[in-house]
Amino acid sequence: MMETECLFCRIVAGEIPATVVRETDTTLAFRDINPKAPVHVLVIPKEHYADVVTLTEADPGLAGDVLGTAAVVAETEGLAADGFRLIFNTGPYGGQEVFHAHAHVLGGEPLGPMLAR
Ligand code: 5GP
Ligand code: ZN
Repeated sequence: MMETECLFCRIVAGEIPATVVRETDTTLAFRDINPKAPVHVLVIPKEHYADVVTLTEADPGLAGDVLGTAAVVAETEGLAADGFRLIFNTGPYGGQEVFHAHAHVLGGEPLGPMLAR
C-alpha cells in the first residue's frame, strides 16, 4: 500500500520523476538526485516499509529482491569487477533521511574509508 506523503512511494507511483535504471515486479532502482560517487543508485521495494529492518522482518523475500536488484545494478553499471559499496542507512544514528527502505549502490571510483572521522 502506498503512503501518500512518502517521497519514494510517489516515485513508484510516477508522481515524481526519477531516472530509473532497473525495474522488476517488486523493486525499482533509480539514480540518486545528489550523487556521492560516479555511480549512485537507490534500490527500493515498491511496497512501503520504513527501513531495512522493518522490511526484512515483514517480508524477507522482498528484502532479497532488493539485494538481487542491487547486484544486477552493480553489474549493469559496470561496478562488479572493481567492487562497490551497498549501504542501508537506518534510523537517526544511521543518517536515514527518507523513511522508505532503500539500498545505496555506490561505486565508479575508490570510495575511501567506510566512515568519515
Ligand atoms: P538516506 O539518507 O535516507 O539514506 O538517503 C536518501 C537519499 O535520497 C539521499 O542520498 C538523497 O540524495 C536521495 N533523494 C532525496 N530526494 C530525492 C529525490 O527526489 N529523487 C532522488 N532520485 N533521490 C532523492
Ligand atoms: Zn514509501
